[in-house]
Amino acid sequence: MGRLFIETVNDNSGEGGGGRKIFKCKWCKVEFASYYDIFSKDFRGRFGRAYLFRKVVNISLGPNEERSLASGLHTVRDIYCTSCQQILGWKYEKAVEESQKFKEGMFILEKERMLKEGW
Ligand SMILES: [Zn+2]
Repeated sequence: MGRLFIETVNDNSGEGGGGRKIFKCKWCKVEFASYYDIFSKDFRGRFGRAYLFRKVVNISLGPNEERSLASGLHTVRDIYCTSCQQILGWKYEKAVEESQKFKEGMFILEKERMLKEGW
């Protein structure tokens, strides 16, 4: 393994004049996602409230797992911080229910495991 490469969140907020709004790792402060990439705030994770994001950086993914969630059976992969390895949430790979397919390829990050910067 070479040196750890940390990406910077590409935040388009400047265009709307809202300023930079970033979610970071609670432990190592690496940046994960932009507030403007939140698809929905109406989710629950293992530790409480969670957000659904379209795009996340600086994460590593666990193996595919079938998991029965409140919204039905899904294939998911756990999400870990690439820098400190803390578990953060999961990624939706596949949904069985037609109504849940919009989540495929999106990321759940737990609010409790992140810091907010910029607001
Ligand atoms: Zn971290």
